[in-house]
Amino acid sequence: MRTLPNLHLARPRDLADDRLDPQSRAAAAYAVGRFAIALIALVMLSVRTATGPGQDLVPVLLVHVAFALSALVAGLVVLAADDAARARWVHGLVLADVMAFALYSLAFSSVPGAGTLWPVFVLLAGPLLWGWRGVLMTGVPTGVIASLLPQRDELGQASTAWEVWLLVLLLTVPAAVVSTFVRRGSLRLARAEEHFRTAFDDASSGMALLHRDGRILRANPALHALLGVEQLTGARLADFATDEQVLLTGLAGLSSEHRASRFEVGLQGADVEPRWVSVVASAICTDGQVRRVILQAEDITERRRLQDRLAFEATHDSLTGLPNQRVLHDALCEALAEHRPVAVLFVDLDRFKLVNDSLGHAAGDRLLVAVSHRLQACLRAEDLVARLGGDEFVILCRPSDDDGAAQANQLAQRVVLALRPAHSTLDGMLSATGSVGVALSNGDATVGTLIRDADTAMYAAKAAGGNRAMVFNDQLRLDVVRRHEIESGLRDALDAGGPSLAYQPIIDEAGRIVAAEALLRWTHKGVPIDPAEVVVVAEQSALIGDLGWFVLRRALQESATWPADVRLHVNVSAHQLDDGFHDALAALLQETRPLPGRLCLELTETAVRDDIDGLVTKLQQLRALGIRLAIDDFGVGNASLTYLARLPVQDLKIDRSFISGLPDDAGNVAIVAGVAAMARAYGMQIIAEGVETRAQDLTAVRLGCTQRQGYLHHRPMTHDALQRLWPLEPPLVAVPRARAVADGSVFRAVR
Ligand code: C2E
Ligand code: MG
Ligand code: MG
Repeated sequence: MRTLPNLHLARPRDLADDRLDPQSRAAAAYAVGRFAIALIALVMLSVRTATGPGQDLVPVLLVHVAFALSALVAGLVVLAADDAARARWVHGLVLADVMAFALYSLAFSSVPGAGTLWPVFVLLAGPLLWGWRGVLMTGVPTGVIASLLPQRDELGQASTAWEVWLLVLLLTVPAAVVSTFVRRGSLRLARAEEHFRTAFDDASSGMALLHRDGRILRANPALHALLGVEQLTGARLADFATDEQVLLTGLAGLSSEHRASRFEVGLQGADVEPRWVSVVASAICTDGQVRRVILQAEDITERRRLQDRLAFEATHDSLTGLPNQRVLHDALCEALAEHRPVAVLFVDLDRFKLVNDSLGHAAGDRLLVAVSHRLQACLRAEDLVARLGGDEFVILCRPSDDDGAAQANQLAQRVVLALRPAHSTLDGMLSATGSVGVALSNGDATVGTLIRDADTAMYAAKAAGGNRAMVFNDQLRLDVVRRHEIESGLRDALDAGGPSLAYQPIIDEAGRIVAAEALLRWTHKGVPIDPAEVVVVAEQSALIGDLGWFVLRRALQESATWPADVRLHVNVSAHQLDDGFHDALAALLQETRPLPGRLCLELTETAVRDDIDGLVTKLQQLRALGIRLAIDDFGVGNASLTYLARLPVQDLKIDRSFISGLPDDAGNVAIVAGVAAMARAYGMQIIAEGVETRAQDLTAVRLGCTQRQGYLHHRPMTHDALQRLWPLEPPLVAVPRARAVADGSVFRAVR
């Protein structure tokens, strides 16, 4: 709402043209003429009274004074009348005045000055004012009375009745003819004006008649209602415009050549909501000049709101109300085109999926809105934050000077810190820390490369544990290139029959091979690639599914010839455990038909970290397929011991980092002993990974690790090499433990 602008009231001169209709104008002219004649008569009578003989002319003088005053009042009332009904009353009064004057003139025809002047005026006034009706109302009564009364002229000569009638006809008929023609034209004009007024006043859209300087001469009720103002006459319309310039420009374009202009402008009235109107302004010109402007204003507020909403929706994210990717793209293009330093911050929430999966999407949405508020609070006026989708936000930072890197870094740190405290939402306190990647523009940066580099840096921040910011640098660029190379090479390798597998045996307390773990081996361009790296790249590029099924199928096929009591361990990434995994595995088992209990899937703790209830259900379904489950690398992740009680797993592989500290590291000794005791309590086998020395091996056994795996006993080997380890004939001879531990090639010795 805004206060009403000062009204510049129009002076009556400006409005006179618009108020008087032609008939009122004629009545006014009569009143003026009548006043003038009364004055002349007064002067003549006064002179006569002062100089002439004996007649008492005072009553006559008074009557003339009264006539003069009544004419003056009638004239002023006519001038002031601004509506037709009042004007008609005035015309009635003037008619009565004419009649009275006619009678008076006749009655006092002997009065000097009245005998010729008054009848002539009366005889002309009636027909001029009312046409043929005027002849009937004034001319005929005058003629009749005059022909009945004895008439004398100024010289005292008697005049006859036919002379009187001739005078009446000569004066009234031409006056009536002239008046009729004039009145017909006036009538047409008056009707046209009446139609215009009706259309103007009854129009549902706002209408105004403007002076050429923009002041409102007349406004219809719809415009008053639109602006919530009772009196608009005399106000400047531009004072109501939300953008005065638009209105003034629209009106300034009018001329005798360009008589109409159209534009849209916002109007703000008093105590009403601002309205948008579509304006058609038409010029009324005379002598090549714009005199008046008719303005028609149609309320288009709803349409504009809809347009604005559609425009907003096209450029903003519907959930958070933040600008969307399109706005970001345009702003980045603009900033790059100006060759100003630009930084892009890619923000991704850590483990947001967990919120969505465990609390539902509505909770996830609420969290995203809360995050968007925090991000906005971190920004400076010149920065922009957009939501790309999901839990991904991008901030466009426009550093104010050359030290752009420092400013972008500071902003990134502010964002990380701002996201750190838990968010209070309807769903309770939710934590959503963020990983931020920063990329800075250089000479040849494009929108695509900036966002890609910031995304890469964000991934690096996430890989480093999240909840931190990282700036894109050359090393990251190399990592990306390498990752890309590994990805495309692996895709080709899988298409061409796949990488190969190595197997690393697991032995029991007696040194017997009770299982062998399948491990990926892939040589790309002659260089062996670290399987852990291959798996990470595959996980990031969604190749993990294909790779995982390749390993499972190959390992199941190759293990078909193994001794019956040797298990096959296969590593399974958490990314593989999607909803289709169970059915696909069931189909594969149907196809390869491994011995019952042969297959054991090793899951790392990262799989355990996510939605525990969902995981328990999934694992139970897998168990129902007749397979074993193991937790791999236990101790390095976040899985707590309490989880273990709930997970349907049979084997626990304690991570190499704990075994390597044995036997001297008291902490590791305590941990391994505790984990082994707990695993025993849950009925699990505990497998020590990465056993490299005899001391480690002996300590692991002493602490309760029932099975071991490591370079001390067997390195990962080809399938052919593994086959050579199998005893030619079962059963195996029990090997003394000390000897088995001392000699990694125990089976060969026995064979
Ligand atoms: P992991 O499942 O824990 O496998 C054991 C890793 O430890 C193997 O490394 C093995 O060569 C190594 N190792 C075994 N004994 C010793 C030892 O005494 N000393 C040392 N220093 N290392 C030992 P590798 O083959 O490089 O595999 C690394 C990781 O890559 C695996 O760790 C596993 O997480 C992953 N991986 C390997 N193959 C696959 C696969 O087919 N699928 C999936 N999802 N992951 C796999
Ligand atoms: Mg493993
Ligand atoms: Mg392991």
